[in-house]
Amino acid sequence: MCYHLVTHIEYACSHQVPDQRHYIDCNQWTCRLSRLHNPTEHDCMQQCTAM
Ligand SMILES: [Zn+2]
Ligand SMILES: [Zn+2]
Repeated sequence: MCYHLVTHIEYACSHQVPDQRHYIDCNQWTCRLSRLHNPTEHDCMQQCTAM
Protein backbone atom coordinates (compact mmCIF):
# COMPACT_ATOMS: atom_id res chain seq x y z
CA MET A 1 0.00 0.00 0.00
CA CYS A 2 0.99 3.57 -0.54
CA TYR A 3 1.68 5.62 2.50
CA HIS A 4 2.98 8.94 3.71
CA LEU A 5 6.31 8.89 5.44
CA VAL A 6 6.65 11.75 7.91
CA THR A 7 10.13 12.73 8.97
CA HIS A 8 10.76 14.69 12.14
CA ILE A 9 13.25 17.30 13.18
CA GLU A 10 14.51 16.87 16.71
CA TYR A 11 15.73 19.90 18.57
CA ALA A 12 18.44 19.87 21.22
CA CYS A 13 15.73 20.00 23.89
CA SER A 14 14.40 16.73 22.38
CA HIS A 15 11.29 18.53 21.17
CA GLN A 16 10.24 16.97 17.87
CA VAL A 17 8.33 18.64 15.07
CA PRO A 18 7.12 17.13 11.79
CA ASP A 19 9.38 18.06 8.92
CA GLN A 20 8.31 16.71 5.57
CA ARG A 21 5.82 14.25 4.20
CA HIS A 22 7.11 11.89 1.57
CA TYR A 23 4.58 10.09 -0.53
CA ILE A 24 5.65 6.47 -0.99
CA ASP A 25 3.95 4.79 -3.92
CA CYS A 26 3.72 1.00 -3.75
CA ASN A 27 3.67 0.81 -7.58
CA GLN A 28 1.03 -1.89 -7.63
CA TRP A 29 -1.59 -1.73 -10.32
CA THR A 30 -4.16 -3.20 -7.93
CA CYS A 31 -3.74 -0.29 -5.56
CA ARG A 32 -6.28 2.49 -6.06
CA LEU A 33 -3.90 5.05 -4.64
CA SER A 34 -0.97 4.11 -6.80
CA ARG A 35 -0.09 6.06 -9.90
CA LEU A 36 0.12 2.68 -11.62
CA HIS A 37 -3.44 1.80 -10.75
CA ASN A 38 -5.02 -0.19 -13.58
CA PRO A 39 -6.26 2.42 -16.08
CA THR A 40 -8.43 -0.01 -18.01
CA GLU A 41 -11.93 -1.09 -17.09
CA HIS A 42 -11.91 -3.68 -14.32
CA ASP A 43 -13.74 -4.76 -11.21
CA CYS A 44 -12.16 -2.29 -8.87
CA MET A 45 -14.17 -3.34 -5.83
CA GLN A 46 -13.06 -6.95 -6.18
CA GLN A 47 -9.55 -6.65 -7.54
CA CYS A 48 -8.18 -3.53 -5.97
CA THR A 49 -7.38 -2.35 -2.51
CA ALA A 50 -6.97 1.07 -0.99
CA MET A 51 -5.25 1.23 2.39
ZN1 LIG B 1 -0.46 1.62 -2.94
ZN1 LIG C 1 -9.07 -0.49 -9.48
